[in-house]
Amino acid sequence: MGAPRSTEAETEAEPEAETEPEAEPGSEHPTAMAAYNLIVVRAPCPSCKRPSEIRCQTHVASSFDGDERGRFCARTYTLGETMAWWGPGDPRFEQWCDGALPTTPPLYEEACYSTCASCQADLCVVIEFRNVVPTRVVGVTTEQNWPAGHLR
Ligand SMILES: [Zn+2]
Repeated sequence: MGAPRSTEAETEAEPEAETEPEAEPGSEHPTAMAAYNLIVVRAPCPSCKRPSEIRCQTHVASSFDGDERGRFCARTYTLGETMAWWGPGDPRFEQWCDGALPTTPPLYEEACYSTCASCQADLCVVIEFRNVVPTRVVGVTTEQNWPAGHLR
């Protein structure tokens, strides 16, 4: 029996037609994330045991501010490379090592969230810094074995 029901064609028009064009590649981190840079090192990976390129997130010399060179974040460095930052005459200069632990002056260390480029394992790389330069790798562990005493 065809009951004469006047259905008001309720095709749920979901307003999701427009794909937001502001989702940039590489912006997969939550918005509240602090600024960071990447330091690429070569070291044996504790997970796959191969000599690997390891990408380390550092908060050293990281700011969403910057100067005429651009922001002091989302930059990629290698060991021995001076990081972009304000000069020693700037009041913000001393903040270059915020997020790192002072060890033996004038050295600092930071335990960095890191990823092995070979096996994608989550690692922790402790990097030593001196005068706005990442100087050496102190140690590489898996993220589960985050070294005691280091912020994470
Ligand atoms: Zn690996």
